[in-house]
Amino acid sequence: MGQLRRMLCLWLLLLGFTLVLLIVSDLFHRENESSLQDFDSPRHRFRGNPGPPDDLELIGDATLELLPELVPISSLKEDQLLFVASTQETESKKWSYRVLLPAARKAEEEGAPDRSLPEARHPKCLGDQYSESLPSASVIICFHDEGWSTLLRTLHSVLNTAPRAFLLELLLVDDHSTHDHLKTRLSEYTSHLDGVRLIRSDKRLGVGGCRNLGASEASGEVLVFMDSHCECQKGWLEPLLERVAQDRTRVVSPIMDVIHRETFQYSATQWPVWGVFNWNLEFSWESKPQVLDDESDLAVEAALSPALGGVLAIDRHFFHNVGAFDPGILLRGGEQIELSIRVWLCGGSMEVVPCSRVAHLDHSLPSQDHEQLERNKIRVADTWLDNYRSIFYRRDTLAHFIRQSERPNITERLQLMKKLGCRDFHWYLTTVYPQLYVPQDRPELSGEMYNVAVGGCVDRLPGRDAMILAPCTGTGSQHCDFNSDGEVRWGPAGALCLDAVGEQVVLSECQRAIGERLQWTYIKSSGQLLHRLSQLCVEALKDGQHPGSGAGDLVLRSCTHHPAQQWHFEQLVSP
Ligand code: UDP
Ligand code: MN
Repeated sequence: MGQLRRMLCLWLLLLGFTLVLLIVSDLFHRENESSLQDFDSPRHRFRGNPGPPDDLELIGDATLELLPELVPISSLKEDQLLFVASTQETESKKWSYRVLLPAARKAEEEGAPDRSLPEARHPKCLGDQYSESLPSASVIICFHDEGWSTLLRTLHSVLNTAPRAFLLELLLVDDHSTHDHLKTRLSEYTSHLDGVRLIRSDKRLGVGGCRNLGASEASGEVLVFMDSHCECQKGWLEPLLERVAQDRTRVVSPIMDVIHRETFQYSATQWPVWGVFNWNLEFSWESKPQVLDDESDLAVEAALSPALGGVLAIDRHFFHNVGAFDPGILLRGGEQIELSIRVWLCGGSMEVVPCSRVAHLDHSLPSQDHEQLERNKIRVADTWLDNYRSIFYRRDTLAHFIRQSERPNITERLQLMKKLGCRDFHWYLTTVYPQLYVPQDRPELSGEMYNVAVGGCVDRLPGRDAMILAPCTGTGSQHCDFNSDGEVRWGPAGALCLDAVGEQVVLSECQRAIGERLQWTYIKSSGQLLHRLSQLCVEALKDGQHPGSGAGDLVLRSCTHHPAQQWHFEQLVSP
């Protein structure tokens, strides 16, 4: 009996041993594979040392306790198991794994926490001597689930470039992150850094709310808000502080350079640029159609900007007086446009300072909560756009429908506006941003351009100028506006016009120089759209009629009464 049990035990032991061998050999195999992939990936070039990092940590939900002996390896999700270091014997002679989950792996691959950027400032900026009596600054960096190295690089970049004489403090504000590396590990890390304070929020505040929390804790004369994925050029802080010191109602931004999302490569942005938004309330940096002589003083002088992005310096008192970030804007999106319009309308101004440069990681994640973004935009439109808001709702029909069932509570913001004596949006459009085209959106002359024969709507081939016919979206994405100048304006900025090149109907920038070519006559009774210069009509090609690949569906032909030349402007909403 005892012998049988011993035999059984021996067999079980052997079986166990074979299993262990099998798994271990599999692990080595995987390791080789993963380091090979590592080597091939473009990111690799930006890492200090080739091959897998050798000081891996156990990050994520999987802990050693959850991996007793070797068994649970198969229960790990394969897609999470990106790198498994070779098994090793610990003192207790137990097998242990070191597992790197995706977030951690990405963070590790992002490279060293310290690097200096190539010089991109104009030579005239380099000799600048700034007054020693510049105001003190609190740099406020909010983060939600930021990568470890990315956050640290931001932090060190600020500490390395901002002179301690002006940098009073750096506030890191954790907007309720979930990643493990942002917990004890970060607290310990920052506790050794002089002048750095880590503030935790116990609920998710969103960008604006998180920045407000940071601002309420800050004591510098000037607040500098920055994203958690930035790198600063030498000398970026002083020119910003100087502009604010000269006028406390000035809100200023550096030139935003770009860090590539995959390669982390740095690229400098060409000056002059300014921050703008379109009628869909989407913010962007736009280069100004102006070529500057390198010798010109304009190459280094601050320039007014209709809006600013995520990195800005603002006097602390002015920030609070003007109403901080709108606490009704939640999560992310719309907060910079709201602040920009308010600053301009309520006594301040905005500008980009070209001798200051900060690079921002171009991550542009799609918004996780699309409806919240729409609600934020609705709030901006209802608070600030007055009668112009219908231009927004015609182009953003989702916002229109959400607003039909719920109105934002903006009472407090309207009271603030009254208290501050803010100007109206008409003033903004005529004085601050006259370059933004104001659509006319007349009934029957604007909306989706529907073709009777084909039964589709005019749309734009992504990345191309040719116009095509596509299923009507009903979302406002195909909205166009036939105005009293005879132009057919396309897109949320209204800066593109229906144009004709040869027989092809295309989109061009609406410039006065080619004005004649951009003029059309719409004959409501027949639905014909006549190109004035050529006296030809727009005709829709059906499938199979295309003259060549890459061409669009809209061509100019002699005018007839065929349905292929009949167009209707279909307005989707009438707010
Ligand atoms: N952020 C935050 N809470 C949020 C969303 C974002 O604190 O709910 C932080 C984020 O980590 C970043 C900054 O706010 O540092 C701006 O967000 P993001 O970079 O996503 O905006 P974008 O640059 O795309 O405009
Ligand atoms: Mn960002």
